[in-house]
This record gives sequence, C-alpha cells and structure tokens, in this order.
Amino acid sequence: MLSGWREATARRPWRMSAKLLIITSVVTVIGFSAICVNVMLDMRRGEEALARQTLENLATSIDADISRNIDIYDLSLKAVVNNMLLPEIATVSKPIRQLILFDHATTARHFGAIQVFDADGRLSIDASTLDPQPENRADEEYFRVHRDNPDVGLFISRPMLFRSAFSIVLSRRISDSDGGFMGVVAGSIRYTYFHELFERLSLATEDTITVLKRDRTIMMRRPFDLDIVGKNLGTQQDWKPENLKAGGSYAGKGPVDVTPRLYVRSSGAGPLFVVAGKPLSAVFALWQREALRIGAVVLVLSLFVLGSAIVLAREIGRRADAESKLEEMATTDALTGLRNRRKFDQVIDMEWRRAMRQKTQVALLMIDADHFKAYNDTFGHQAGDQVLVGIAICISDSVRRASDCAARYGGEEFAVLLPNTSAADAFKIAETIRAKVLGWSDGGAGSTVSCGVASLAPTAGMDWAVLVAAADKALYAAKAGGRNQSVVASLPQLSLVA
Ligand code: GH3
Ligand code: MG
Ligand code: MG
Repeated sequence: MLSGWREATARRPWRMSAKLLIITSVVTVIGFSAICVNVMLDMRRGEEALARQTLENLATSIDADISRNIDIYDLSLKAVVNNMLLPEIATVSKPIRQLILFDHATTARHFGAIQVFDADGRLSIDASTLDPQPENRADEEYFRVHRDNPDVGLFISRPMLFRSAFSIVLSRRISDSDGGFMGVVAGSIRYTYFHELFERLSLATEDTITVLKRDRTIMMRRPFDLDIVGKNLGTQQDWKPENLKAGGSYAGKGPVDVTPRLYVRSSGAGPLFVVAGKPLSAVFALWQREALRIGAVVLVLSLFVLGSAIVLAREIGRRADAESKLEEMATTDALTGLRNRRKFDQVIDMEWRRAMRQKTQVALLMIDADHFKAYNDTFGHQAGDQVLVGIAICISDSVRRASDCAARYGGEEFAVLLPNTSAADAFKIAETIRAKVLGWSDGGAGSTVSCGVASLAPTAGMDWAVLVAAADKALYAAKAGGRNQSVVASLPQLSLVA
C-alpha cells in the first residue's frame, strides 16, 4: 500500500507540488490572518481599558467635587442643629440669633440660604432674612422623613423647586436631648452648581455624566433633560446594580437613550455617585479605522498569495499533464499502443521484488507471431504491421487486471506479465490470446501466435531473468511443437501444469 503510494507520488511529483503549494498558501493565509485578528483584538482591549480608565478618573473627580461641597454644606447644617439646642437661643434677639446660628454657614454662590422649620413644619428662622414670610413645609418629603425617622442623618431630597430655584434639598433633624422631634434644618444646592461643574469639562456631545443617589434616583445628567432628572432607576432593567458596582464598568445600552456606551461608575463613598459614559463608537473609532486599514491590507495580501498560488498550481498542473503525456509516450510502443520494452523491464523488476516480499507467484507469457518473416515477404511490411496491431488488440482484450502488463517485447514478439497468477491461470490466458488471434486471422488476414508460459514464486537472490528465460524456453518448445500453441515451462522450480 505504502509502496504503491510512493510509486504514485514518484510518478506525479508535480501534482503533489501543486497540492502542497495550495495547502501551504491556505495555511499561511489562515495563520497570518489569525495572528492579525489576535493583534487587533488586543488593540481593541487596550483601547477599551484606556477609555475605562479615563472615564473612571472623570467620574471620580466629579464625585469628589460634589462630595466635598455636600460635606461643606452639611457641616453648616450640623452647626445650626447644634446651635439650635443652646438654651440661650430662645432668649437672644433676632440679629444675635442669626449670628449664632449662621456665623459659620457657608454662603457659596450655589448654596441656598439655610432655613429652620419647627416641629409643625412652620418656617421659624431663615438665614437670608430676619423676618421670613410665613410658610409651612410639613408636607414636604424631607420634613416627613425626619419627623418619622430619628436616625436619618443627612437627607438629600429628590430634585425639586426650592425657593424658586431648581435644587436638591439637604436637611437634618433637630432632636432634643430625649430624641424628641423639634424640627428640621434645610438648605439647598442649586442646579447651577452642576451646570457650571459640567461646563468646565471638555466633553464630546454624546458623552454622558449621570449623578445618582444611592437609591439610584437620577439627580443630574449631562446632556441635561428635565424629564430624566428625578427619575428612579429602581425598575430599570438595563442599569442593574450589579452592572454599576463602585469603580465598575459595563458596555451596553443606558437607561435614557439607545446609544450603546461604555459606562464607568465612580469609586467614591459619598451620598451621591457619578457614572460617566462614552459611546462605544467613539471609544473604538480609532481602533475601527486602524482595523479596517490593516484588514484591507491583509485581505489584499491574502488574495494575492492565494491568487498566485492558484496560478502557479495551474501552471504546475499543466506541466504535470505534459509530463504524464511525455511519460506515456516514453513508455508506450508507437505501433501497437502496448507498453514498450523499457517500461516492461521496469514493471517486471518492480513486480518481481514485490512478489519476493509478498511470497506470491509471478507469471509471464512470451508470445511470438508464427512465420512472420514469410508473411512480411508475402504481404509486405505494412500488412505485417497491421497484423502486429491486431495481435496487440487480442492481447489487450484478454488481459484485464490493472496490475497486468502487456508489452511489445521486440519485433513480432510480445510479453505479458501477470502478477499473482499461477501457471494454470496464465496458461488459460495464453490460450485465450492464441484463440483470439487465431479467430481473427482465420480469414487469412493474419498470423497465428505461439505462447511460452512460465510462473514462479521468486526466492531471495533470484533474478527475474530466470522467469524470462523459462518463458522463452517454453516458447521455443511451442515453436518446435508445431506453432499456434501454448506451452508451460517445465523447470523444476516452476509451478507446473500439464
Ligand atoms: P517463427 O515462426 O519461427 O517465429 O518464424 P518468423 O518468420 O516469425 O521468425 P523470424 O524471427 O525469422 O522472423 C521475424 C520477422 O518479423 C522478421 C521481420 O521481417 C518481422 N518483423 C520484425 N519486426 C517487425 C515489424 O515491426 N513489422 C513487420 N511488418 N515485421 C516485423
Ligand atoms: Mg516469429
Ligand atoms: Mg521472433
């Protein structure tokens, strides 16, 4: 099997080279493309990591600014709460009381004036005026929260109108020494603070900054939209808490619009947190351009390599065809179309060795036209040639197996090699040939043939010339026996038939 393959490849080196060339090119292109894809994916991951870091820095610095302001304002609220508990506060005059309560109160631009409400929600003290207009805030959420829960601490309201400015209200409870509810201190941070804070940043139009409360109420968003501010994401499936861990990030659709973004949450621990978002198209814009360029170059190169390989393979195929035609010509007898002597010698050598390895028999028929000289002399050489062609056809018709080899041995002499065939079977084939030639030449148009048959299983060191000599000897015997007959060689080492 293996030797057969070796022979086939040895006979068709060009075809193998063509296949190898195509396979090598395809493997090269696939390998090269895989490396490119890997590098591109690495680059993409790098771009994403860089964008994530930038967004985290942005979110955290905004978070820090907001937390600092809330802390500062909360300190003022705490001071008011503490001072309200001083017993003297009820006795001093209003201007002195203002001084005691709001001396340390921060009066930054975006902070609203601090107000104190009594246990019924009535405005009792206002940092901005000594005689505030009466108002009652008993129904406001920040009032009710403090009245009903003593331990809320700093409460940050939902976005709301507070003293005619859109603000968030920061409030603390005033409790007496027994924990009894005495009222609420409230102040506000106006939205102008957020607007100014965000304006200082250089952001692309599609970039988003979202400030949220811990309960995931949107306190502020850039781009600003009143419909969104105050919305709670508690029911939002897209921004689940697990996607928004502190310092975490996720890529996908946000709660407001459909643009897929990379969202990164600040890592601060303040009462509010910040999420910065950048459209994925912007994050990967540079990478996409680069990927397209490199992809196009790789594609063109791959097509070039494959195209060249196909052209070369075709050329190799053409050469292979030409070579096999040449080989055919070099191994075929021009007149009869049978194998020539050269080829026969190769085949018998190969089969002889194979039979030796496999310990099988090889049979040989030597066939010679009878009285052919006379025929030539009578009918001429050309007619003689036609007879030789006729004999060749009779031989080809009788020899079926692929491993059989019918050849013109020389002049009007033919040889048929029959691997793996006993003398008895070889004799049958010889007789078939002889009968066919006889039948064909019966009309007087041809000649008869004599056949010498030999079959033997070669042993080590034995040369195939032994087989040829035996078949030749049998042929002479057939001639001597009166021609137009087949004779089996009767050497002792051959398998004999009667
Ligand atoms: P025998 O029965 O003993 O074989 O007699 P024969 O005449 O066939 O034997 P011989 O060897 O004396 O003659 C062979 C003849 O075959 C000689 C030659 O004219 C003829 N011959 C050999 N090759 C060719 C060929 O290619 N074409 C033709 N037409 N004749 C050939
Ligand atoms: Mg002859
Ligand atoms: Mg002869």
